[in-house]
Amino acid sequence: MKWLFEVQHPAKGDRNVVELGMVEKVESEGNKVTVTLGFSKHRDPLAEYLIGSAKAAVIRNAPEGTEVEVKTIIKDEAAPKKKPGLDLGLEELSGVRHIIGIASGKGGVGKSTVAVNLAVALARQGYKVGLADADVYGPSVPKMTGTEELMPDAFQEGDKEVIMPIEKYGVKWMSIGYFAKPEQALIWRGPMACNALKQMILQVRWGELDFLLIDMPPGTGDIHISLVHDIPMEGALIVSTPQAVALADVEKGVNMFRNESVNKPIFGLVENMAWFTPEELPDNRYYIFGQGGGLKMAEKYGMPLLGQIPIVQSIREGGDSGEPAALTGRPDGQAFLQLAEMLVSAIG
Ligand code: ADP
Repeated sequence: MKWLFEVQHPAKGDRNVVELGMVEKVESEGNKVTVTLGFSKHRDPLAEYLIGSAKAAVIRNAPEGTEVEVKTIIKDEAAPKKKPGLDLGLEELSGVRHIIGIASGKGGVGKSTVAVNLAVALARQGYKVGLADADVYGPSVPKMTGTEELMPDAFQEGDKEVIMPIEKYGVKWMSIGYFAKPEQALIWRGPMACNALKQMILQVRWGELDFLLIDMPPGTGDIHISLVHDIPMEGALIVSTPQAVALADVEKGVNMFRNESVNKPIFGLVENMAWFTPEELPDNRYYIFGQGGGLKMAEKYGMPLLGQIPIVQSIREGGDSGEPAALTGRPDGQAFLQLAEMLVSAIG
């Protein structure tokens, strides 16, 4: 099936699944296409990625409305493959003291920027830090840390597949973006994305960490509920911009953590883009989204305002160049260091 030539295995020099002999069967009946992929290992860390990519390749090429199913079998075992990710234990998180979700009610408020800079700031203060980029719809951590050319190592340990995080700036990074090209990640939906994310967090050899930050996808859908249920987060940090229109989104984020079945504390709010400071006038503050919005939001939902981060060009440039602002001694870097201190004292 020529469409499946587009499905490359990132851990096998980008050779495609057809070349690798992984396509067992392709059947089509009516408007339904069923692809069966054969795996030789029980828990290939890239299984979910490959299933997602195969599905996406068929959707891209088949006539509109085609239904696609991707099945898997284990080739060297008679038993059918169990769905990966579902039976993973929490052993790899046993050395982690605090697991904190970084959430936002909607995209584009700077959640990933805050997560990456907070991780770097905590590491600069001497803490052992990891960050799992669970933003399946826009994994930006590889780019923001200048690690997008790297591929995490994976190895077999007993019956378990272990993934090693990427280390840079004193932080252990893991992202779905190391495995999936952005346009492929976008096609993942629902359970498939949930499993891939859990696999990505639970199979990683995090080792001893003071903080593991989970950069959550924007919004408050099924993926979030599943993540907060399955990953033992201690609590969350909410990132928002100060506009009044952001209030409703913040409320959704707050409810997600405070609802009865989840019931996790929110350590506080981070007001990003709190004011604009031009590079040539570093003492000037322009409240382009209004002043005091963050504080009002924090008061309304009964949580502390842990930090205020200005909009400055250098924060955006740091994100684009892979050198987070928090590495510098500039005022924008200081803002993230202060946020890190506030978070540490809020957790206590
Ligand atoms: P989210 O994770 O909420 O979708 P991002 O962190 O990807 O948002 O940020 C969106 C864009 O805004 C990026 O280009 C980022 O560099 C930029 N950005 C975020 N926060 C700031 C800031 N405080 N100052 C300048 N640019 C920012």
